[in-house]
Amino acid sequence: MAENFVSVSGISTGKQLEGIRKISTEEELSFPIAIGYQLSNKSINKGTQNPRQPKFVDIGELDERTRDNGFVTAIHYYTKYNETILDDLEKVVEAGVDPSRALLQFNTLPVDAEVLNRVRDIGFRVIFKVAVSDKSDKGGYAVWKGDDVQDVIDGDIIPLIEQVFDRADVIDYLMFDPSHGTNLDLDLDEDSLGMRFGREIFDTYELRNVGLVYAGGINPGNVRRVVKRLESFFPGRFSIDTESGVRKEGRLDLGLVRNYLVNYRNTRNSINITRNIIKRLVISGRERSRQSYYIQDSTPDCLDNDPETLAAFVEGCLSDKETERYMNHMEKCKRCLYASSLLIRGMEEYE
Ligand SMILES: [Zn+2]
Repeated sequence: MAENFVSVSGISTGKQLEGIRKISTEEELSFPIAIGYQLSNKSINKGTQNPRQPKFVDIGELDERTRDNGFVTAIHYYTKYNETILDDLEKVVEAGVDPSRALLQFNTLPVDAEVLNRVRDIGFRVIFKVAVSDKSDKGGYAVWKGDDVQDVIDGDIIPLIEQVFDRADVIDYLMFDPSHGTNLDLDLDEDSLGMRFGREIFDTYELRNVGLVYAGGINPGNVRRVVKRLESFFPGRFSIDTESGVRKEGRLDLGLVRNYLVNYRNTRNSINITRNIIKRLVISGRERSRQSYYIQDSTPDCLDNDPETLAAFVEGCLSDKETERYMNHMEKCKRCLYASSLLIRGMEEYE
């Protein structure tokens, strides 16, 4: 399966990269970190540069240093003209980027499967951004306003899924990003387009090796909520990307980058701890239930303070007689009802 990563994008200089390396070392970060470099048809061919782009002549050295630091290079490529893609990517390789180690994200309308296939032949792993946009946003990028683009509020997932299936063999990651670097928040509501899309991908066996990437307004302040939420929908199978969320007045802020990565790490750790607690509870609950067939009287009246028996009950491991007794009890006991709903929720989230 595609490896999950956390990415920091819009990096333009070796100095910024060095700052992130320092953070990673000092904070002992051990998860995969991707560094996103924006290139465009214009920056490659005309040497233009905006504040979120590196100079094209520097890209080879940046790629090498990125890898030396233990990070993954992600090229975010933009063009208005699909016919320039392969020539431009050849130039990226000539400039020194090792395609066999790099990710390539298309910040364009859906690229043909045939072109993606050739991009894969060059060696890149492909991040395919599905065509969603906030069509009501007047300041949005024109390229994301075509007929094939679904509106992030009232869009339909079927055309998005079709875009994916047409290219299923040539996609390594699918990205859902309605903001396109404009810091528009990701809607994590259960019924939102992004979550419905992700569930469809998550439940499709043929796409089981494809990674999911979410972006849109993720910042140090909300990364914890975003990660816990995504983990509850797509356990163990998502990456996140930030760009605007670690900038102040348009400029990369290493203090924000540090908080973003550290908060991510802490959230990951707490999810792992919770998962281990639930696992232990369920195992010991099963063990307890096995014994309770023989020692019926040992189970308490109320389960609120006996999580192991509660786990056995929730797992359906208690004897019929015990189960019935607790069913009757829970009709009256709000504390037991609450404790069992928390545990069930936890199992759903972390199993
Ligand atoms: Zn109770």
